[in-house]
Amino acid sequence: MHYKLFNILLLCFIVLNCSKTEKGTPEISQEFLVDSLKATNTSFDEWFSKVDDQISVDDDYYFEKNIYQVVDNVYVAIGYGLANSILIVGDGSNIVIDVTESDVLAAEIRERFEEISDQPIEAIFYTHSHVDHWRGALPFVDENTEVYAHETFKKGFYDQNNLLKPILTKRGMKQFGFFLPKELQRGHGLGFTLDFDFKQPPVVYPTVLLEGKKNILTIAGVTLEVVHSPGETDDQIIIYYKDKEIVFSGDNYYMRFPNLYTIRGTSYRDTYKWYKSVDEMRAYNPTYLVSSHGPFLSNKKDVQDRLTIYRDAIQYVHDYAIRGANKGKTPDELVEEFEYPKFFKENFDLREQYGKVSWSIRNVYNGYLGFFDGKAVNLEPLSTKVRSKNIFKIIGSKDNLLTLINEALENKEFQWAAELCQIGTINFPNDNEIRNLYSLSLEELSKEETNPIARNYYLSEAYEINERIIPDLTFSLTEDQIRQIPIETIFEAMPPRLNPVKANNKFITVGFNMSDTGEKFGIIIRNNIAEIVHYIPENAEIIVTVETSTWKGLIMGITDAKSAITSGKLSVSGNYLKFIQFSTMFEKD
Ligand SMILES: [Zn+2]
Repeated sequence: MHYKLFNILLLCFIVLNCSKTEKGTPEISQEFLVDSLKATNTSFDEWFSKVDDQISVDDDYYFEKNIYQVVDNVYVAIGYGLANSILIVGDGSNIVIDVTESDVLAAEIRERFEEISDQPIEAIFYTHSHVDHWRGALPFVDENTEVYAHETFKKGFYDQNNLLKPILTKRGMKQFGFFLPKELQRGHGLGFTLDFDFKQPPVVYPTVLLEGKKNILTIAGVTLEVVHSPGETDDQIIIYYKDKEIVFSGDNYYMRFPNLYTIRGTSYRDTYKWYKSVDEMRAYNPTYLVSSHGPFLSNKKDVQDRLTIYRDAIQYVHDYAIRGANKGKTPDELVEEFEYPKFFKENFDLREQYGKVSWSIRNVYNGYLGFFDGKAVNLEPLSTKVRSKNIFKIIGSKDNLLTLINEALENKEFQWAAELCQIGTINFPNDNEIRNLYSLSLEELSKEETNPIARNYYLSEAYEINERIIPDLTFSLTEDQIRQIPIETIFEAMPPRLNPVKANNKFITVGFNMSDTGEKFGIIIRNNIAEIVHYIPENAEIIVTVETSTWKGLIMGITDAKSAITSGKLSVSGNYLKFIQFSTMFEKD
């Protein structure tokens, strides 16, 4: 018997048999476990016997890696990667919804899908632009496969994979505990694994970007209602398969408190839109609800009940923050004063095992009112650095500071200990003792934390602070990786990478002729910014004629400029010296 899983189940049974719950630990309904197992046609015994001995995870969301049948022609691969992959067997060909984060996992899933049906895949749907939903696509692509997403996918994809890639990668890996030693990796709330490879598999960009609110498509005899339904992301789609009464929820529903804000960083997740999106799913009154994460549901009443609870929880947080904000409360006060309504504690789906209420409250406030909490003193707050120096003056000496930190640790005031350590590292940047205490404080915080991604974040930073882990965030890029990224996206990603110091007092106008497609672009450097235009600017001092793939390669740092010029794939007319100057002004990630 697998020891850890046995403990988890034992714990579940204990919780099930308790009439009262511990503070902050919502009761797990027995129905949930029974229904989940029913939904996957698995009995407890089977579940026990099939569990992979290799997996050691105390995440009760974990499901045995397998292909589960939803209805006669719909299957879902659960437990392979962070996200699920779904197969719809059609008439003569098949449809796949979401493809996991890894092409290796996707290949494994495809093999299993082929055992069910070896028809070609006619359509792939990406429910949204997060990597765990599109990155593994390649093994699912056949000769005539069309890849569908909503048109808003473009912006989501661009933001994450170009504009904000460095910082989102850095924070994302902490959230998922990606670089932690194996023995410390205990899942991240939505499952066990994030099978991420810094060697980027070829990007399969959507071939069809759907427009508008609703599209009804018939593919391989299967009619699907594809609805743009912003929630977790602005580009999210939900899919309704009317004939089989199935709603595919993407990430707008999973059995966790929703990640209304994610600590890896996100643009505003519109909480209002999210619960409205859940209402759209409720309105279909489906029998089956298949999420892109974790188990699926197969009972009309259960689906309706759970979706109702889910949207109510989101609305509760939304309305709470708005109500308080209107009374002049600050985000800190709103978080401090929040009291959980009873239904939060009673529902399995609202456990804060992925999203967290405190972050969500701040997200709603910030989404509507921005960073400023309305107090004049916070208009131009002291920087952490200045405040730390000032507080240190009051503390008086390093010895006094160390005493305070140790006292805080002894009193189990770990947040305060960490904050004192932060003051310490700012005043004594190279002090190992303070650094180790900082690391220790964060480690203690991680032990208290019940939210898996917060836990991972504390622990990853604890390990990074004293260099027990040194993350290597370098992506290895190939031509394939960027082959299908639109050239506009490549140009649009350039301005934030301009080094404003190098651009100081420079006025340079460059026109680009894409020799293979005839497309034209321009970059104008002035006032320490780069303006991108979709034409050749008048009076361009430099005209670059270049093949699309060569330019992409140059920007992404995988093609060498010299060889591009000597091979004739890139030619420059006009002020060549200025072109050289121009090309050194942009930084690589
Ligand atoms: Zn996801």
